Formats: sequence, C-alpha cells, structure tokens
Amino acid sequence: MANIKHIGVLTSGGDAPGMNAAIRAVTRTGTYHGIEVTGIYRGYQGMIEGEFHLNLKKSVSNIIQRGGTILKTARSEEFKTKEGRKKAHHQIQKLEIDALVVIGGDGSLRGALEFSKEYDIPVIGLPGTIDNDMYGTDSTIGYDTALNTVVQAVDKIRDTAGSHNRLFFIEVMGRDAGFIATNSGIAVGAEDILIPETETHIDELIKWLQHERRVNKTSGIIIVAEGDDAGGAYEIARKVEEGFTEYETKVTVLGHIQRGGPPTCNDRVLASRMGYDAVMHLLSGERSKMVGIVNNRFVLTSLEKTGKRAHKIDKQLLEMAKVLSS
Ligand code: ADP
Repeated sequence: MANIKHIGVLTSGGDAPGMNAAIRAVTRTGTYHGIEVTGIYRGYQGMIEGEFHLNLKKSVSNIIQRGGTILKTARSEEFKTKEGRKKAHHQIQKLEIDALVVIGGDGSLRGALEFSKEYDIPVIGLPGTIDNDMYGTDSTIGYDTALNTVVQAVDKIRDTAGSHNRLFFIEVMGRDAGFIATNSGIAVGAEDILIPETETHIDELIKWLQHERRVNKTSGIIIVAEGDDAGGAYEIARKVEEGFTEYETKVTVLGHIQRGGPPTCNDRVLASRMGYDAVMHLLSGERSKMVGIVNNRFVLTSLEKTGKRAHKIDKQLLEMAKVLSS
C-alpha cells in the first residue's frame, strides 16, 4: 500500500451532474482508510489561491442526489503557466496534501498531468463532463443525466410539434462532439441529427424532409449539436426555410438546463464507483491515470493518452437513426 495521508479533491472545467457523488465517494473511501480528505474550491484557481474546504467528510452527507458541485468549479488561465502551478503546489504543500483526485474534462486532466509531472505527486483523474468526449471511457460522469434531460425536454416539444404541424430544430450541447445529439436523437426518434463530426449538407437535409413529408409526416424534430459545421440551430433553420416551405419552422436552444438537475441513477453509480476506485488506486500506488469504464469494466488509462486522443462517435448510429425515422 502506498503511504498516502492526505488527499486533495477538486472539480474543474464545466460542471456535470454526478460530480457531488464522486466527491462523496472519494471522501468516504479516503476517510474509511484513515486518510484525511480536503476539498479544493473552484478547481485549479482555488488551488492557486489556497481556497480549501478542510474536513470535507463533514459536508458530504445529502449531496449524492444534487447536481452541480459543492466544491464549485472554474477555469484557470493562470494554472496553464509554470508560475501558476508553482503557486498551486506551494498551497497544497502547506497542508501537506500528498495526492490529488481531479474530476473534470480533458482540459482538466491535461492540467493534472502537467502538475503531476512537475511536482511528482500522485494524481488520479475522473472523467466529469456532460459531453462524453473523453478517451479511455465509454461514459463520463454527467453524460447520462444530460441525455435524459434532453430527452424529457424534446418529448414535450414533440407534443406541440405534432399538434401544430411544425418542424422543430433543437440545439443541444456539444461544441466538438455529437454524443448528446446522437443518442438523444435516437431516443426521441428525431427525423435527423446534425453533429460536428459529419458534414451537413442543407440540400440533402431538404431532400430528406421532402421524403419525410411524402410519407405523410406532418411534423418533425431535427437535433442539432451546437458545434455543427453548418451553424447553430437558428442558422440551419433559416437556410432550410429558404428551400423548403411546407412546414412552419421553430427553433429551441436547450442551453444550460442540460447541465443541471439531480444526477440519474446511472450517473450516481458511475461517479460512486469511480470515486471509490480513484482512492483505491492511489492506495495501491497508481498515479497519472484516469479511471474509465470500457465495455462495462472499470479500467485505468494513462493521462498521457486521455489528453491526446478523443473517444470517437460510432457514425453507423446516424445511419441507423435515419432508417428508424424513415
Ligand atoms: P474541461 O476540463 O471541461 O475540458 P477546460 O479545457 O476549460 O475544461 O480545462 C479546465 C482547466 O484545466 C483550464 O482552465 C486550466 O486551468 C486547466 N488546463 C487545461 N489545459 C491545461 C494544460 N495544458 N496545462 C495546464 N492546465 C491546463
């Protein structure tokens, strides 16, 4: 067993439902093994400024069901500099923190890797982001909740779309990745799904809508990932309207509701298992790795790899979605 006495835990980058469940799991597992656990507020910026939540074990009751993160999160330009990381190290040295658990997206884990290399401190990363775009895991903490939020919202929009013969363009999160769009699109039976990973051709979309119209569809839902190459939902709707006037067109941008809300059962279990594993791996001497779930098994991936590669979307799913909506 590695001789770890004091773990610092932080959340960084975009918040995601389930981060609290992960903080709780890290804290409870550490405490169970006689390790002190301290929370670091506002990600790396709080680390630089020495904003700590001592005795975190007293604050993790009743948080497993809460969205957001009790430790708050932030982005920190200063941490990207050597000088910033030096300040951060100085702060954790004062508390004698000798290991870190970092919960965040790929940027946060890249930061964790830099820091662990410079200061020779064991760090385990947990993938926390609603976007699901991380290498080394099939699912990230927060993704399942975001998907369910989108599905619930779109089901409601579907009711009004059907009542008024409308074509709805619904923009969901995903600047670089179409995971939320693709899987929510399948779950709501969207007429089409537009994502950054594939080229969007407006003329083809119009042809498809004409086909759908011919098969007597009187309304429709098109899911648009915010990072689609043809633009956001407003822009795409405008372009489609110019060439296709048979439906009344409406746009809904779901925005930040996708980040909030109580985590789903899946996210709570995922975050709990990952938080537990993070501490157990630190105790067994692991460092500079991320805990992920691949083919239903919990695995470790080197932070070197998670920073450099992205987890790819299965494009056949888009083909399948088209067949199922035709
Ligand atoms: P996410 O973790 O959700 O991908 P960001 O990409 O904004 O979010 O990263 C979160 C924070 O991680 C950044 O604000 C910065 O403090 C830190 N970070 C990102 N990349 C690096 C890097 N190459 N070196 C050091 N810190 C980094």
